[in-house]
Amino acid sequence: MIEGLDNWHAKAEGKTAIDYGFHLITTEFEDNQTEQMHTLIDEGVTSFKLFMAYPGVFLVDDATIYRAMTTAGERGGLICMHAENGVVINEIIKRALAEGRTAPKYHALTRPTVAEAEGVHRAIAIAEMAETPVYIVHLSCADALNQVREARDRGIPAFAETCPQYLFLSYDNYEEPDFNGAKYVMTPPLREKWNQKELWKGLKMDDLQVISTDHCPFCMKEQKELGRDDFSKIPNGAPGVENRVPLIYNGGVVENRVSLNRFVELTSTAAAKMFGLFPKKGTIAVGSDADIVIFDPDKEQTLSVESQHMNVDYNTYEGKKIKGVVETVLSRGRVIIEGGEYKGKPGDGKFLKRGTCVSM
Ligand SMILES: [Zn+2]
Repeated sequence: MIEGLDNWHAKAEGKTAIDYGFHLITTEFEDNQTEQMHTLIDEGVTSFKLFMAYPGVFLVDDATIYRAMTTAGERGGLICMHAENGVVINEIIKRALAEGRTAPKYHALTRPTVAEAEGVHRAIAIAEMAETPVYIVHLSCADALNQVREARDRGIPAFAETCPQYLFLSYDNYEEPDFNGAKYVMTPPLREKWNQKELWKGLKMDDLQVISTDHCPFCMKEQKELGRDDFSKIPNGAPGVENRVPLIYNGGVVENRVSLNRFVELTSTAAAKMFGLFPKKGTIAVGSDADIVIFDPDKEQTLSVESQHMNVDYNTYEGKKIKGVVETVLSRGRVIIEGGEYKGKPGDGKFLKRGTCVSM
C-alpha cells in the first residue's frame, strides 16, 4: 500500500493544475496490513475505495471488506464502496454474450438495479457490524438509494454520493443509433429516467450528501471502439469533471430542485467535510484557502466537444443548453481560469494531507 502511494505521488508531482488528494484502492487487506493502513491515514490518505464489482480485477470479498472497515474505522478512515454485486453480474453478462446480445445497451441490461441495491445493503450491513461509517460512491438509482435511506433512518452513519450523469442522462441514451451508446458505458450504468426524480429527492433530504463526477474518460476512437462487437470490452467510464458545476446549477437551482445554498453544499462544502479538507477547503473564510469560483448565473452556454477543455473526443451532453458559466477560478488566491481560459501551469497544485471526516 505504501509503495502504491509512493508511485502515485511520483506520477502527480509537478504536473497538477490544482490541489489534489488520493483515495487508495485496495484489492486485498489482511490483518498484517493494519499498520500500513494506519500509516497512510496519518500521511493524509484517509479514504479507501473497495469494489464489490469486477471479479478477478478489483473485487474484494466480505471478509476483506470487514477487515478493511474495522481497521480504517479505528483511525477515523473512511471506506468508499463501489457497491454492485459483480459476481452475479458477470454470470448475467456471460449469458447475454452467449445469446449474441453484444450492443452497448446490454451493458446496462446486464447490470440490474437490484445488483446495486444488494451491494449497497451488504456494504452498509458490514459497516454496521464493523461499527464504522461507510460512503457509497456513484449511487445511480432509487433501489440503491432506498437502502441508504433505510439505514440513515435507523441512525446508521451511511453516506452516499450521486453524479450528474445519473441526474441528467438515462437508459434511453444507450438506444442512440450506431455505436453511440458506448459513450455512456460506465458503472453503474445509466438507469430508467424515473430514477432521476428520486435521486433529486435524496439530495434534497440529505440521504445523498455529495454530487461527484466519477470522471473517467475514454475516447471513442481506439478506446471505446474496442467493444464494437462485444459491450463487455467497452472501457467503462465517461468524462464529466468540466461540466459538473454548471450542470448542477442549471438542473438544481435554475430548475428549482435545490436552493442556491444546497447547490454549494452538494458541489463543494460537503465533500470537503466528508474527506477531511474542511475548513481549509469548502468555505470562504479568513484562514481558509482562497479557492473561489466566480460564476455568471445568467449567461447561457451549449455544452459541446467543440468548446470543452477535457481531453476526450466527445461530450455526453452534446448540444445541451444550460444557464450558468464559470468565469474565473482562483486556486489558493491565484487566478487559474479567466474568461474560460486556463492561466495556470503544471505543478501549481499541491498534495493535500487530509484529516478525517468532520460530519460523522
Ligand atoms: Zn467505481
